Amino acid sequence: MPDISVRDQIRKIVELQKIDVEIYNLRIELQEKPARLAQLKEGFERSKGALKDLEQKFKSVQVTRKEKELELKTKEDEITRANAQLLQLKTNKEYTAKISEIEHINADKSIIEEKILMSYDESDAVSAEVEKEKVKVEEEEKKYLAEKKQTEGDIKLMEDRIRVLESQRKQASVGIDQGFLNRYERILRHKGGVAIVPVLHEGSCGGCYMNVTPQKLNAIRMHQELVECEMCSRILYIEDDV
Ligand SMILES: [Zn+2]
Repeated sequence: MPDISVRDQIRKIVELQKIDVEIYNLRIELQEKPARLAQLKEGFERSKGALKDLEQKFKSVQVTRKEKELELKTKEDEITRANAQLLQLKTNKEYTAKISEIEHINADKSIIEEKILMSYDESDAVSAEVEKEKVKVEEEEKKYLAEKKQTEGDIKLMEDRIRVLESQRKQASVGIDQGFLNRYERILRHKGGVAIVPVLHEGSCGGCYMNVTPQKLNAIRMHQELVECEMCSRILYIEDDV
């Protein structure tokens, strides 16, 4: 038999419950924190990836332009060579053919020049996009780091608070029968951190709102045992009666 009355023990369990509900809620919050951070990090990494793609695109525009500039140089050389050959040609037919060849090369050259000009426009546009994305990445990084710091601070505070509460709960459990305590803790784990609830004024369970039978109410008032709700299995007590 416990040294102190069941009524006193229930009073103690009610006090313990106040501590435990806070611990329970803090633990839930603590579990959610890493997911929130991961989500922020993902957003930031995505922007970084987009920036990298744009920078890659910018580089590839430059590479293509270099190639086009080489092609242009080749065409210019071909034209110089063809113009030199022109002077040595003997017949009209050969001359006309060479002129036509030069015209063809010139036409190719114009197309290449056009492409080079377009590539300057393209790199200007991509470069503007890169700058815009850089600002975005910087902002997101700042936001991410600030939230990370804040979250780490919050986690530390919550862990500290849990430690304080754990030590309070140890003191609060002194004097409660071990069997009662085990029962209470088992319900606590299975019922969302709420194991003992008051009977509400209209005679219903403060946990699941089902009616508490008059027999149960009598049993609660007798203070000889822990009385559980038939529906949600939480321990019941009457607020003015403990
Ligand atoms: Zn209930």
